[in-house]
Amino acid sequence: MSNPQRTPRIGYGWDSHEFQPGIPLKVGGVLIPHHSGLAGHSDGDVLLHALTDALLGAIAVGDIGTYFPPSDPKWKGADSVVFVREALKQIEHAGYVIGNVDSTLILADPKIGPHAKAIQQNVAALLGIAPSRVGIKAKTPEGMGTDHAAIAHVAVLLTEICWP
Ligand code: MG
Repeated sequence: MSNPQRTPRIGYGWDSHEFQPGIPLKVGGVLIPHHSGLAGHSDGDVLLHALTDALLGAIAVGDIGTYFPPSDPKWKGADSVVFVREALKQIEHAGYVIGNVDSTLILADPKIGPHAKAIQQNVAALLGIAPSRVGIKAKTPEGMGTDHAAIAHVAVLLTEICWP
């Protein structure tokens, strides 16, 4: 039987947050000028939350709430970069590195296209991988009735750390 540590691991995460007027909009750690931002206990960064869950899910060690319970006031207004860094620590500890990440954002407004490159570069820098390994895609919620919210889906592939 092959050592399960030697097989690549796939991870998947999903998140949604509601738009609220007058708060900053942060997606993938990038501030996007808009009249509304995403409400949440932390900074509401829907993409980084889905990414954190995808990373944790790939090694089956729970989800974002396992490490950062929303009931803990410590995480109120937290920069979601903290959540991703914890997930990175966990996957490194488990002996994996990130092969690639792919994502889809679903929101009516604002358009993500003009910011996609900045988001890609920021997420890649946060993960310590090349931007060419980070897919950022966006769609509008045609017929879903979710114009008041932003949704993110993220898939990751982890590969074993290759020791020299
Ligand atoms: Mg969230």
